[in-house]
Amino acid sequence: MSWPELNNFERREFSRPDIMQEDFLLALDELRDRCGFPLVITSDGRNQQDMDRIYSGVPRENHPNSPHKRGRAVDVQPVPNTPAKRIILLHHITGMYIDGTLPRLGLEVATRHIHFDNDDVLTRPWLWVGKSR
Ligand SMILES: [Zn+2]
Repeated sequence: MSWPELNNFERREFSRPDIMQEDFLLALDELRDRCGFPLVITSDGRNQQDMDRIYSGVPRENHPNSPHKRGRAVDVQPVPNTPAKRIILLHHITGMYIDGTLPRLGLEVATRHIHFDNDDVLTRPWLWVGKSR
């Protein structure tokens, strides 16, 4: 895909930029604008090899049908990764769900990161808690 013009992120900040979907990248960029503090991307698009590494020991048929594979999810950490910044980040993600920017929101509050997606395949909206791998 052609890389969109983003205010806050460079292509090289992504492990799998070619997997990422343009509309999702624009939403991520908008989220960063609203937060006003840096966001570190700890996981973005994933191919099957990435999934096998992340879920090593889990049989492939039990790997999640992850929106990361569709380029419609990121795992992020605010900088600094404090409870206060995480609360503000969650505020802006949920605000983008309420205002229709992320209508298909999947939101995970994990131990060290926040996952969000805007997926058109899985049941959405969805909210869960998780353990960072
Ligand atoms: Zn994730």
